[in-house]
Amino acid sequence: MNNDTMNNGVIIAGVNLLFNYAAGEAASRFLIALRDEKKIWGTRCPSCQRVLVPARSFCPRCFVDTTEWIEVGPTGTVSAFAPVFHLADPSGFGNPKGLSAALIRLDGADTALAHFIGETDAPQIGLRVVAVFAESRSGHILDIAYFKPA
Ligand SMILES: [Zn+2]
Repeated sequence: MNNDTMNNGVIIAGVNLLFNYAAGEAASRFLIALRDEKKIWGTRCPSCQRVLVPARSFCPRCFVDTTEWIEVGPTGTVSAFAPVFHLADPSGFGNPKGLSAALIRLDGADTALAHFIGETDAPQIGLRVVAVFAESRSGHILDIAYFKPA
């Protein structure tokens, strides 16, 4: 353990577990579209018709392969949020202080994307937001730097 701190008798510690794994076909296509086209894609379940974002190769509710790719966003609606007071940066995500963690239902999607919202001191459920893409993109979910009020 390193960088542990104690505050009012509470030890604040973290565990960093860095590893590599294959993204798979659906996640690869999703991330490459973020990087190269600044587009956000979901996949539709042929059984329940939900559009899943990020794109998935199968529907976790119906256990069937998704078959159709649907472009969603870049605008959406905040469905939940929490201020970020501190977030360790074990993997080069950048410093998200000043941002709020949020669940965002992108226009055209039936599931919420976990991400960050910024450029507002007063996030709220129902806030309309739009994706802000990073200047430098690498095929990572943070190729969307954050979402800002639309
Ligand atoms: Zn389904």
